[in-house]
Amino acid sequence: MPNLSTRITTLNDGGSDGWEVFYAARRLVAQGVRVTELTIGEHETRTDPAILGAMHSAALAGHTGYADIPGIPALREEIARRVFQRTGVPTGSENVIVTPGGQAALFAAHVATCNPGVTALHIDPFYATYRGTIRAAGAVPHAVDTRPETGFLPDPERVAQAARDTRAASLLINTPNNPTGAVYPRATLDGLAQTARAQDFWVISDEVYDTQVWQGAHLSIRALPGMAERTLVVGSLSKSHAMTGSRIGWIVGPPSAIARLYDLSVTTTYGVPGYIQDGALFALRQGMAAETAVAAPFRRRRQIATDILGAQHAIAMVPSGGAMYLFLDVRATGLSGVDFANALLDAHRIAVMPGESFGACAAGFVRVAMTVPDANFDRALRRLCAFGAELARARKAAAR
Ligand code: PMP
Repeated sequence: MPNLSTRITTLNDGGSDGWEVFYAARRLVAQGVRVTELTIGEHETRTDPAILGAMHSAALAGHTGYADIPGIPALREEIARRVFQRTGVPTGSENVIVTPGGQAALFAAHVATCNPGVTALHIDPFYATYRGTIRAAGAVPHAVDTRPETGFLPDPERVAQAARDTRAASLLINTPNNPTGAVYPRATLDGLAQTARAQDFWVISDEVYDTQVWQGAHLSIRALPGMAERTLVVGSLSKSHAMTGSRIGWIVGPPSAIARLYDLSVTTTYGVPGYIQDGALFALRQGMAAETAVAAPFRRRRQIATDILGAQHAIAMVPSGGAMYLFLDVRATGLSGVDFANALLDAHRIAVMPGESFGACAAGFVRVAMTVPDANFDRALRRLCAFGAELARARKAAAR
């Protein structure tokens, strides 16, 4: 066989990144073992049947041929309206391209902004696909570190330094954040925007969790002065409408960038199925109440978690503002995130994601997806805390 391209063979960092815990849990489940899976970011409920009904009707009505490549006009308009309502930034369908999910949007946004071999900045901790996505687009990922003491918020000064050092073409941010739950406050976004303007780079703003905000308010960096012309916002219906499997999302950006992204869609995805787009249009037209209902279980469980974690000292919760995860500090146990997650799976059949899966800055943490029914979630979290306390006690005793 001839060699495969370096680009595809070096997409992944290589080595262990903690995903073994996830696969070990899946293997146990396949063997019939009961495991409480608090791993991936997917609702335990399925897509609203009414949305599926809209897809079904659209398909039966014949919307099964090639659909408009940048998205059907009505959906682009609806997305533009949604974005305008939430951000106040004038937005029309010329600012919108529909993509098969936020993931495809992340890839397309990097292709649009990064020449081959240039640096694309991202923040550590990060959503697990980020570095591979940047490489897939032909750019070189460069992480800017954050710290638990400052709530994992990016320091604009460090971003500015990294951008200067690497002459970066883009910065990828994510608020509300996966995995940390951080919701970037205005001061952070102002600082990042100022850096982006001063050093003339693009901001790719991943806002797929914008309907899951528990504290504070979601602010889009695109709404800050001078940013609409240098920001590509990534959106998706996966999290807001429990539509992960429908693969539908978008990019919002300057019309000239959207026109070029059209060229990319022609050569890659050739658009998104028309009946899926009709379903998405139906979903968005349900308005905010439907999104609030989808987010409600996570809001409730975050409160359950706050109460449980507040009553003990072994495990600290990163004070998060949004998204469907808890980010827990397990360093008092003396274990790494990977070791803690493995031990928890072995001892209690509870699966969580090691922080290490999301970057070096997340070492010693675990991410808990709030994606099982309340009673199971409550039980699993109490077990996790008790397990953490046992380990911390044993560690202290051994040190004496
Ligand atoms: N960004 C973040 C931060 C995510 O967590 C996810 C999904 N887990 C995505 C993007 C991609 O979502 P999708 O492709 O399903 O829209």
